[in-house]
Amino acid sequence: MSEPETYDVIVLGSGAAGLTAAFTAAHEGARVAVLEKNDRVGGTTAWSGGHVWIPNNPYMQDIGAKDSVDDAMTYLMSLGRGILDERLARAFVDAGPKMVRALADDGGVAFFAVPGLPDYHPSNPGGKPDGGRTLGQELFPFPTLGEWQDKVEVTPYYSPYLRMDETAIGCAVPKAPTDEEKAHREAEDLRGMGGGLVGHLLNACLRVGVTIEVSTAAHDLIIENGRATGVVVETTDGRRTLHATRAVILATGGFEWNEEYRTAFLRGHVTKPASIPTNTGDGLRMAMRAGAALQNMREAWWIPITELPEGINAMNLEMINGDRTRPRSIMVNRTGRRFTNEAVSYNSVVGAFHQEDVTAFRYANLPAWLIFDHTYLTTYGSTGRPYTGTTPPWLVEAPTLRDLALALGIPGDKLERTVEQWNANVAAGKDPHFGRGESAHDRWWGDPYKKGSIEGTLGPITDGPFYAMELTAGVIGTKGGPKVDEHARVIDLDGDVIGGLYAAGNVSSPTGASYGGPGGTLGPGMTFAWIAGRHAVGAGR
Ligand SMILES: Cc1cc2nc3c(=O)[nH]c(=O)nc-3n(C[C@H](O)[C@H](O)[C@H](O)COP(=O)(O)OP(=O)(O)OC[C@H]3O[C@@H](n4cnc5c(N)ncnc54)[C@H](O)[C@@H]3O)c2cc1C
Repeated sequence: MSEPETYDVIVLGSGAAGLTAAFTAAHEGARVAVLEKNDRVGGTTAWSGGHVWIPNNPYMQDIGAKDSVDDAMTYLMSLGRGILDERLARAFVDAGPKMVRALADDGGVAFFAVPGLPDYHPSNPGGKPDGGRTLGQELFPFPTLGEWQDKVEVTPYYSPYLRMDETAIGCAVPKAPTDEEKAHREAEDLRGMGGGLVGHLLNACLRVGVTIEVSTAAHDLIIENGRATGVVVETTDGRRTLHATRAVILATGGFEWNEEYRTAFLRGHVTKPASIPTNTGDGLRMAMRAGAALQNMREAWWIPITELPEGINAMNLEMINGDRTRPRSIMVNRTGRRFTNEAVSYNSVVGAFHQEDVTAFRYANLPAWLIFDHTYLTTYGSTGRPYTGTTPPWLVEAPTLRDLALALGIPGDKLERTVEQWNANVAAGKDPHFGRGESAHDRWWGDPYKKGSIEGTLGPITDGPFYAMELTAGVIGTKGGPKVDEHARVIDLDGDVIGGLYAAGNVSSPTGASYGGPGGTLGPGMTFAWIAGRHAVGAGR
């Protein structure tokens, strides 16, 4: 018998948002299909660390962390810069813990709170310097997925067999698994990080009978009498129409791989996205065609990147987080001067890259270079790769700071002076210019073995040869898209609901004016997906 072409709910995209929405609707008894453009399931989610940021989540008590709705709201609104809709922030804060509970109890997703991992702005009111809002998941046994085991995206950035809390980012003291444990995980195909999260969610979907189709790209929404009633898809066999009796849920990720949209909407330059290339803004295009109003278009989940020569990883880039925060390093611009706190969150620091030099009318801090010394390189390696005795090809090396400046085309005397001043500040144990090291965040992301202390991020630059790595602006996804209400329903240009049309995840992140902490993209994305999945089938109304 051929597959029925009518479903109660059709979900477009199979990242965390799509799978969460699909599971939620199907668990309420709906017939649900997930349509995925890529030939594998999981989207950028499967490439990610899998951290999920949920304030006031039910696992915080397991690690002795405390939170409240008030703390969470105060914190989120402190990050909103007047453009975060309080109603939507509250919808996230109220529903987040319920979403986590539902996925755990009904879907078997094994969450745990990551101890100690601070919020991204822990000194803001309501911020959590000691963490608790970030959730990880237990490894997922992929053989459980049967025929789907090999149809999930694998990250190009790190080993799929690690848990985030075993890396320098996710743990107070890194505790990498033993070689024996690694071999066991590989043999049993036990995956962690974002791949593991997708494994958990996909398994939950399959258990409640969700139909999943890959290589099926949504092309157009069917809108009848102002209501979404289906979708036209493109497959290798041509176009097909599928009908949805209750809802179509857009979960097609961001528009970061669509250069035209990037140029039209984003606040500043992007050299290259770090996300999955199938995220080309299709959901945004379909929603605009349906008359949707837009929100958060200039925002993205920003990240500094460095471009790598071909053949090092599939994306020819690396995201620069720990490298930037470690002692014995600073960032400088073309004047040879520091321009910001290098150790702030990756999303925030790109704000400094986009700062304008209003006289020259160009970006003041692009290009930017991370400058460090030989002890840094031998201690920490570069881009997460240990030092092997030779200088990695993405670095510029010179015996003196003056020679390094010459190679970069920046004034040597200025660079020398900047480093002198930095070293004096380090000796005094304080960065009076930009306050680097003052927040719990800065002290976490630096030297993995000096977490919590100012030495975790402040260190002198003294030992030649010296090195530079060029940093530019990247994104791990965009977050602007169709405007939604607190039920994740898409709103049209007149402020009316477009019946039967929902959006969740990076296709439209309604709390995207803020980036609260590690997992701050997946947390709201999955929460609004849960809201959408329930509302679409009338649950809790
Ligand atoms: C290396 C890395 C690490 C990260 N770590 C974290 C982390 O730990 N925590 C966190 O919160 N965030 C993290 N992020 C960001 C996070 O991965 C994304 O914000 C998140 O996965 C977005 O989820 P989503 O479901 O909206 O989109 P995605 O997971 O990208 O899924 C969208 C899916 O829609 C599909 N699609 C696109 N167009 C169509 C169409 N026309 N029809 C059908 N399907 C379509 C795409 O192929 C894709 O599979 C990380 C990102 C990267 C790159």
